[in-house]
Amino acid sequence: MTISTDRIARAHSLAHEAREFALAHGVLRANRDGSIVHLPISLMPWEADAAFVREVQETTLLYNRLYHDVAGQLPFLEEHLAQAREADDFVRNLFASLAPTPVEKPLLYMNRNDGMPVGAQPKQVEMNLMAAALGFMSQKVNLMHQFLYPSLASRMVPCPVREGLLSALARGHEAFGDPAACVVFVTLPGEVNVFELRVTEAALRLEKGVPTLRTSLEELGEQGEVRGGDLWFKGSKVAVVYFRAGYAPDHYPNATAWKSRSMIEASSAISVPACATQLANTKKIQQVLSRRPLLEQFVQGDTAARLHRSMVMFSPLDEEVTWKGSSGPAREVAAAHPADWVLKPYREGGGNNFFDDEMVARLSSLTPEESRAYILMERIKQPAFTGVRLVNNEVVEGPCVTEMGFFGICMVVGGELSFNEHCGYLLRTKDEANAEGLVLGGYSFLDGAVTGG
Ligand code: ADP
Ligand code: MG
Repeated sequence: MTISTDRIARAHSLAHEAREFALAHGVLRANRDGSIVHLPISLMPWEADAAFVREVQETTLLYNRLYHDVAGQLPFLEEHLAQAREADDFVRNLFASLAPTPVEKPLLYMNRNDGMPVGAQPKQVEMNLMAAALGFMSQKVNLMHQFLYPSLASRMVPCPVREGLLSALARGHEAFGDPAACVVFVTLPGEVNVFELRVTEAALRLEKGVPTLRTSLEELGEQGEVRGGDLWFKGSKVAVVYFRAGYAPDHYPNATAWKSRSMIEASSAISVPACATQLANTKKIQQVLSRRPLLEQFVQGDTAARLHRSMVMFSPLDEEVTWKGSSGPAREVAAAHPADWVLKPYREGGGNNFFDDEMVARLSSLTPEESRAYILMERIKQPAFTGVRLVNNEVVEGPCVTEMGFFGICMVVGGELSFNEHCGYLLRTKDEANAEGLVLGGYSFLDGAVTGG
């Protein structure tokens, strides 16, 4: 949709207001040097297609279920991650942290399903089952757009992330069944997205009456203890461990940090996410699930068709693919069409993907051994629209693309689904010239969505 010049002029004129809103409402990040700045924000909401928004919302619930089922199939994970496990300490350590006999306990998920619009059809970038961030901040930007554009307020896509995530943690705590037990936040020392975490922690304690503690993996490994099947930390029984760190190898500086994972797994504490969930969340499993027969081991009929429609092409590097009329090993096809593919390491990370020329260079430098640790994914393309953003107090206008991630919360108790809900979204818009999408990496900016324009 074309955006009127009036709307664009208005966006420019709102920079000062927007900045003060962001500062006043805590849309902030810390820098490594300790200084504090507002997060990059959009000065006008994105005109979304209502059918696209609905489809991301609804498939989020289907993906919640799918990944719960996949995480529950250890033989499936073992089969498809066998090479990864050999090649990569991180994956090996996650497998090693699983309890020898699985402990019966509730499974709680706080996910985010990221999709890009291809017309009204969302194409999934990835499902985040661990440490899905920026929801509270996104909600504030949604409120900011409602405030700055009263005439659009009724068309904003509702974004109740705060309520959703808090209620997920509170319901997990309740399912544990001991009001005195605490929710432990696992965070990274020096985390730049620290304010959102502090707000979550305080709101959980003050509004929901749930005791909370905060720790690093290492400290939990050092001071945690499993007694009588329960996890104890700093004198409290632990009901829920909420990971906002632990998705990258450098979050585990030593064996003590890893010990925290095996203690949690072996105890009654509900882990968000569990190790098996984190294994299911690898890009390798995402690639595997894009194969229809493998997807159909978990979902069938219309659900399988619908999920499959939301996926793009994936391939291991050395398997045959057909692309634009020619066939060959995926690595050769991708090198011949660099604008059409993305090279990704199979595990999570942030900022680890290779695009364009860098992808071609990386493809040719990978050893056969290393190649096994990567997958190729079709590049999702969308037409650009005009975006106006505020970055480091400066207004920038330009052609943009966007990515919408719906938060999905879900709990399974005794094998029964207790709830499965979506609760608002993170919308990350970026200059079309940027391939990466990290907000905290400075590539994209927080946006809000309106429908019905
Ligand atoms: P991470 O685990 O680092 O978050 P993602 O798969 O989410 O990895 O990729 C990071 C970003 O790169 C995405 O948010 C998106 O902006 C961009 N990206 C990733 N895959 C694709 C793709 N297939 N097509 C277009 N952009 C992509
Ligand atoms: Mg991502």
